[in-house]
Amino acid sequence: MSVELERAYVWDCPHCGQENFQRQVSAQLEPDVAHELAVAAGVIEEWQSMEEVGCSLLTYPDVVYCKRCEKQFSTTFSMSEDGPIEEDDDEDDDL
Ligand SMILES: [Zn+2]
Repeated sequence: MSVELERAYVWDCPHCGQENFQRQVSAQLEPDVAHELAVAAGVIEEWQSMEEVGCSLLTYPDVVYCKRCEKQFSTTFSMSEDGPIEEDDDEDDDL
């Protein structure tokens, strides 16, 4: 018996430390819109087709939930190797 591996994002809950996984989802876009975005992102050249290169655009959710403590977090995504983007949670609100 075997299982099919799916690509996923992994994130650690800042509240309880639980390791969570979030599946990648293929973006459902009109072919010409997807092509335009891929060219703009530098993934493919203007003259190439998405099928030719075998690429598809992937999205990630704006919000994720921890599977252990069920807290909700907004997401950031970084392609760089600089590490995760730090969220500034201790800002002073003057309300
Ligand atoms: Zn948690």
